[in-house]
Amino acid sequence: MEGLGIYFLLLIAVIAGWVLGRLSAPGFKAKPRDTNDIFADYFVGLNFLLNDEPDEAIDTFIKALEINSETVETHLALGALLRRRGKVDKAIKVHQALLARPGLDKSFSDSTRLQLAIDYISAGLLDRAERLLKEVLGEGTMAQWEALKHLIIIYQTEKEWHKAINCCSQLLSSINYKRDSEIRAAAAHYCCELAEQSLDEEQNIKAKEQIKKAFTFDRKNVRASLLLAKIEQRLGNYKAAIKELVRIRTNNPEFISQVLGPLAECYEQIHNMPEYEKLLTNTLPEEPDVSVVLALSDLVKNRAGDEAAIEFLNDYLTRKPSLTGLVELLKLQIPRTDAAVSSNLNLLQQMIDKLVRKNPVYQCNHCGYESRSLYWLCPSCQKWDRIKPILEAGGA
Ligand SMILES: [Zn+2]
Repeated sequence: MEGLGIYFLLLIAVIAGWVLGRLSAPGFKAKPRDTNDIFADYFVGLNFLLNDEPDEAIDTFIKALEINSETVETHLALGALLRRRGKVDKAIKVHQALLARPGLDKSFSDSTRLQLAIDYISAGLLDRAERLLKEVLGEGTMAQWEALKHLIIIYQTEKEWHKAINCCSQLLSSINYKRDSEIRAAAAHYCCELAEQSLDEEQNIKAKEQIKKAFTFDRKNVRASLLLAKIEQRLGNYKAAIKELVRIRTNNPEFISQVLGPLAECYEQIHNMPEYEKLLTNTLPEEPDVSVVLALSDLVKNRAGDEAAIEFLNDYLTRKPSLTGLVELLKLQIPRTDAAVSSNLNLLQQMIDKLVRKNPVYQCNHCGYESRSLYWLCPSCQKWDRIKPILEAGGA
């Protein structure tokens, strides 16, 4: 019965379209089919619906529909419905039949070509879709903006980053899309993809230019900031790298766990670990994630020994209990307890560790997808920058 309601609505739309067509344009069609034939088709279609055979019903409706200016929209709806049901080949046929109709109104011709392009994308026929969309784009009508959106999807799939960036720039030149944060985010990530390629080829300066371009689309892009910090670090500009990492901490505090590793490396290179400890200590009261506590406990341990680190962790955990923090504390305490207790504590530590490791670390705030690796593009909903670290602020 799933989706049956949609077919009833479709049936009503088909009949309404046809009746309106008859009433408003008598004699419009050169040779209309016999009314009884068409109604017979509708009843056959309705019968298929009642028997829960929507595919057969759709076929019958296609047959019953005559393409005239009143039924074009119904055909478009029917095509989109077929595509959603996975019948892409049938959707393509419906849309191609519409396009082949002589004298099709310009706005309908644009909508049909866009729909056909989406069909081709769904069928994996990206070359055909690209050709059709470029054709619409070249005509410069209002449909060009929709065409650009679909072209971006094609170029993203094909990893044609330069072309994708170019389409984003064109789209952002429109007053309606100028502030579209999703397009800006996507464009910034395409620049990051190019920068990562340059980094792989050891072309640091080129990579830096690509990051600068990413910032023109989205200055707060975490991936671009992380890459810039990496480039600066490679070039030996540790202070510049630190500045960029601190910027991430300020703009996107939830990504603090990504920042701590490179931040520690940079401070180590400039031999200024006390400054690093000071930075973390100052931000600790408002820190949303336990990773800062672990980093600090490590710093305290290296500077003042295990005892001081245990004291620091104890003090913190009594205020904000956390499983990850407890594992760390046990690691420090176990070697200091007698053998009988330590083996039990060891077991406890392993169990908590296992428990913590089972938890997802990242989650998409759009579709809820969870993972243990960070993806900039959500593999489930295909949106950029929606996956965020799950913070363990304490009490977890
Ligand atoms: Zn998602």
